[in-house]
Amino acid sequence: MPELPEVETVRGGLQRHVSGRTFADVQVLHPRAVRRHLAGPADFEARLRGRQFDGARRRGKYLWLPVGDDAMVAHLGMSGQLLVGPPDAPLSPHVRVRFTFADGGSELRFTDQRTFGHLLLAADGAELPSVIAHIAPDPLESAFDPVWFAYRLHSRKTGIKRALLDQSLISGVGNIYADEALWRTKLHFARATDRLRPSAIVGLIAAVREVFAEALLAGGTSFDSLYVNVNGESGYFDRSLSVYGREGEPCPRCGTRIRRDPFMNRSSYTCPKCQPRPRNGRW
Ligand SMILES: [Zn+2]
Repeated sequence: MPELPEVETVRGGLQRHVSGRTFADVQVLHPRAVRRHLAGPADFEARLRGRQFDGARRRGKYLWLPVGDDAMVAHLGMSGQLLVGPPDAPLSPHVRVRFTFADGGSELRFTDQRTFGHLLLAADGAELPSVIAHIAPDPLESAFDPVWFAYRLHSRKTGIKRALLDQSLISGVGNIYADEALWRTKLHFARATDRLRPSAIVGLIAAVREVFAEALLAGGTSFDSLYVNVNGESGYFDRSLSVYGREGEPCPRCGTRIRRDPFMNRSSYTCPKCQPRPRNGRW
């Protein structure tokens, strides 16, 4: 599943390749892709035809492209991709929505093999679409306030990883980057948030920003070649992961074997020595 750095990479690509261009035509090839646009596929198409994209923005894993006062909102789900490529490129069977531009140049295609992703048009959503207003800012946004986050965290009685994955507290942090940031700050995922010192929370946020920045840097080069792309979990950052997916391998810091624990229907990876399990943890 694409995480925040991958989505940010897509945002940057859309900004470069699509912003400022006017749609000639919009074709919904699979209605499921616009299922959250309640007025239906024909309305989605009609509202975008002839209009101009004005930038590409992001909060957490949501993207939105302002068109006048409105915005086209995109969520990539598990396997969604926004691809920019030549108009004569063969149409893959997974293309769900196809956008052509008035300048006759490259096309934008929304492809989604597993169809969990979606697009919709949010009226008056240019600044912040109402469908994503309930999501807390992500740590790469200027709107993210570490002090507010630390305060909210302290008042919750939960485990630190659960809190990191809670979109009402902080958005955009998925399983992979949560594990990486916790390892860097030597915090076990079950540490109780109400017992964490503010300095530990500040350090954790810095670590989250650090892993995001490194992932962005790693993904920045693969981009301009042909496509605005998302590779999902098999993506380019895999090589740089310290603990995630590395059960039984040595911890890069101390050599102890990485451990995997089941966590919220997924897995958590920790170094048992660097990240000792708390006595009164909250899973
Ligand atoms: Zn270790």
